[in-house]
Amino acid sequence: MRVVVSGGAGFLGSHLCEALIRRGDSVRCLDDFSSGRTANLAGLLQEPGFECTPCDITERFRLSGDIDAVVHLASPASPRDYLARPLQTLAAGSRGTENLLRLAVRRRARFVLASTSEIYGDPAVHPQREDYWGHVNPIGPRSVYDEAKRFAEAVTAAYRRSTGADTGIVRIFNTYGPRMRAHDGRVVSTFVRQALDGEPLTVHGDGGQTRSLCYVDDLVRGLIAMIDSPLPGPVNLGNPTELTVLELAERVLRLTGSRSGLRFLPLPEDDPVRRRPDITRARETLGWQPLVPLEDGLRHTVAWFAARPERPKVPS
Ligand code: NAD
Ligand code: UDP
Repeated sequence: MRVVVSGGAGFLGSHLCEALIRRGDSVRCLDDFSSGRTANLAGLLQEPGFECTPCDITERFRLSGDIDAVVHLASPASPRDYLARPLQTLAAGSRGTENLLRLAVRRRARFVLASTSEIYGDPAVHPQREDYWGHVNPIGPRSVYDEAKRFAEAVTAAYRRSTGADTGIVRIFNTYGPRMRAHDGRVVSTFVRQALDGEPLTVHGDGGQTRSLCYVDDLVRGLIAMIDSPLPGPVNLGNPTELTVLELAERVLRLTGSRSGLRFLPLPEDDPVRRRPDITRARETLGWQPLVPLEDGLRHTVAWFAARPERPKVPS
């Protein structure tokens, strides 16, 4: 297949590009490098089937040639990033999504939208199934991300209805692994970096809020299953193993053998209290489920962070 991946230089995007190239697809990555990194593409730039075009998908851009699928991952994604770039986040979900939908329609390509569990906001229903409409504060600080993704889903569904476009929506739950940025502010990258660097782990609130963490390789398998299927979705992709933020901090400390303590900070506004995907639909329609246990995924992630060259030396 000839696949366009927007956001292909980012954390998930670069793993997806690699997996597509490995199976023999050709890949065109579109990225403005706002949070993506050239280093993430190190294993790809020499591949004959891979091409990277620096561009902002919210602006006009031109792509020549045939395309079989467009996968739209480009957006500020960590709370730190989207809170710092609120208008760009709204644009990526709205204008950016429409630009890529138009491209897919023109080339008769399948379009896959990377949506998010944030669609469900601070959920009043637990675990979250795809038929739950969510509980989002439309004007709170997180709304720039949540509502952009809700609009992105709406415009994707509207294109499908009005043009017959072949579209699919996946709702991605918290995913972690190598290539997360050490300072992206997300919980796994932050705790692992802090534990390795001998800093206290910054737990928000009392740490009783929950998340369900999916290892990146599992997530990428799910994305590819959705690219290959004709399903419209939405389909939840995530690992249903739920744990509190405090339990995560303790696991990271145990795994790294770190002597870092904990530092409790205020809970950010509208921080969801709990989150866990119901993945029945993914299991039944895509034949997908996560395979990597948290312990193994965290071990790979710790090893990758421990080897990063910019890591400060910690006195023993
Ligand atoms: P990331 O920040 O590593 O990747 C996003 C990529 O998009 C970056 O390479 C960035 O440079 C690029 N980008 C942003 N705005 C752009 C624009 N206007 N034009 C071109 N490129 C642009 O984040 P990620 O974790 O890899 O997330 C990828 C996608 O998956 C995002 O859409 C995110 O909302 C979604 N998602 C991720 C998670 C997760 O846990 N990682 C969870 C839910 C949804
Ligand atoms: N969190 C935390 N300490 C940190 C970073 C995050 O306690 O240094 C908490 C955050 O408040 C949230 C959870 O961990 O309750 C997951 O945060 P993340 O930013 O990874 O993802 P999201 O909030 O988008 O699920």
